[in-house]
Amino acid sequence: MTFESLGVSAPICRAVAEKGYEQPMPVQEAVIPHLLGEPMDLIALAQTGTGKTAAFGLPLLQNVARSLETEGGKPSGLARALVLCPTRELCLQIADDLTDYSKYLPSVRILPVYGGSSIEAQIRTLRRGVEVIVATPGRLIDLMERGAASLDEVHTVVLDEADEMLTMGFSESLQTILSQVPEERHLLLFSATMPREISSIAASYMHQPKEIIVGTKNQGNANIKHYYYVVSARHKYLALKRIADYYPDIYGIIFCRTRKETQEIADQLIRDGYNADALHGELSQAQRDYVMQKFRIRNLQLLVATDVAARGLDVNDLTHVIHYGLPDDIESYTHRSGRTARAGKMGISIAICHSRERGRLRDIERISHATIERRTLPTGAEICGKQLFHLAERIERVELTEDATLEALLPELARKLEWIDHEELLKRVMLLEFRRMLDYYEQEEAIEEADERGRLQGDGEGKKRDKRNAVAEEGMKRLFINFGKLDRMFPNKLIELINKCVPGRVKVGKIDLLPRFAFFEVDEHEASEVIHSMSSYEVDGRRIVVDYADKVGEGGGKRERRGAPSKRRDYDKPAGRRDEDYGKRGGGYGKRSRSYDEGPRSKKKRW
Ligand code: AMP
Repeated sequence: MTFESLGVSAPICRAVAEKGYEQPMPVQEAVIPHLLGEPMDLIALAQTGTGKTAAFGLPLLQNVARSLETEGGKPSGLARALVLCPTRELCLQIADDLTDYSKYLPSVRILPVYGGSSIEAQIRTLRRGVEVIVATPGRLIDLMERGAASLDEVHTVVLDEADEMLTMGFSESLQTILSQVPEERHLLLFSATMPREISSIAASYMHQPKEIIVGTKNQGNANIKHYYYVVSARHKYLALKRIADYYPDIYGIIFCRTRKETQEIADQLIRDGYNADALHGELSQAQRDYVMQKFRIRNLQLLVATDVAARGLDVNDLTHVIHYGLPDDIESYTHRSGRTARAGKMGISIAICHSRERGRLRDIERISHATIERRTLPTGAEICGKQLFHLAERIERVELTEDATLEALLPELARKLEWIDHEELLKRVMLLEFRRMLDYYEQEEAIEEADERGRLQGDGEGKKRDKRNAVAEEGMKRLFINFGKLDRMFPNKLIELINKCVPGRVKVGKIDLLPRFAFFEVDEHEASEVIHSMSSYEVDGRRIVVDYADKVGEGGGKRERRGAPSKRRDYDKPAGRRDEDYGKRGGGYGKRSRSYDEGPRSKKKRW
């Protein structure tokens, strides 16, 4: 099947070919012939990303060009076609696509009109004449009220993402607009879902519409795999990190429910070194544009967004959509998931939810006809394996170009490392890249909710927690310190530190080192002195916090208040980034890997 065989005119076929479209997508095959023949009202149920813009856009442009031709002479400059859509971003996207498709139709002028940009400029352009208006409803009504936009000659109206427009409360605006369009116009309605209100629009404004369904009615895109993980509220963020770490090439949107949560999760991810940013309504338009642009050009790997802010963001290659908690309504789930697996590609939709949300999951499955499969979170070992092999693959794929500097240095480099055999060299490279991650997952506790049979679905790392709960030997007191292996706090260093900070000799017992903090035992009579003395010192600009281990909760809440490492400071290697990259950015870990016995940095006492 070709566009030509569907009846698309030569100038449009040429433009479409230049855009790289080789053959029509299913929705285009289904819709285009109906609109090019005897134009008719039409309802098309198609998900975002299925190619629906060209499905309505190509015939719309062809019909507009034909009507201008048949009129001959000087066209009135009044709009012949109107496309309504819910958001500014979608408006711009559609206008851009239509402009591309009409590259060889010089008589067709297209204007996007949307809120948030200069209305005067839009009025001026409308006065010069425009054949196709792509608009958000509010701004169009504004222009109509000012007498700047006339719909008297409109013969085709498209409602794109009609369900979204209704959800966003544009129902009344749509009615106002439709009442101003000539009776004999054709109405085309595109929607991802089919809520009842759509049927009532159809009944009121359409004449025997042709109904086209791409896929099954209300069915999700078959290219999307749906997974869910059940974790407790306090582990949601850790689960998110695991997922991000498990997919080193992830390029996705993390949907949160509120603006506050969106910002918090983005901040946490950024602090932990992930390549993430937030998109929500509290940002200025300029900030939103900046974030979206960064994301579009893939300078950003993880976009944390609210449903509203992400609407209309047109990005085709998303590998994942993550629901950080389920949305309130089922349609939002479909819309969120529809952001991945576009243009025939595969995608994964992941819900991180609480056990109480399982009922809602079942509702989503039933209504969206998607099968949402329960998964267990990847184990630390699986994540590390994935990351290591990802690097190995990148090494394999490096293009070996000639580089004079490198060539000159290679023999010397080879000589320097010749005492290390191949296997050890590999081990060293991997440790250099991933030591922090390996240590992190080595110690990371199980975070998954117990399943129905009460069995932990985690990765068997729960036993690691025992270290934190251990009971001190008789006569000894177990203390917590907010420095761990990742701060290069090893047993000899810890003993040295205690001896430097605490006057006199202190009897030190068992030491348990974890990545971010440690426990150690001291003579119970000396414990309070050790706490008191050590807590007034700093190491590398960071205050030492020592306290009784049994006062420090396993969950870390109390530790955080006391200045001990918080969860957000846990392993801060970003998804898809190597430790080394991150160090270079001056992010967390380059900074923190500095030896703690470097020179003085603050006015506090130092050991
Ligand atoms: P849409 O659903 O209109 O947002 O389209 C989704 C993506 O598919 C857009 O990036 C389009 O440029 C692309 N697209 C549309 N039609 C085709 C086609 N026939 N062949 C290849 N890509 C297409």
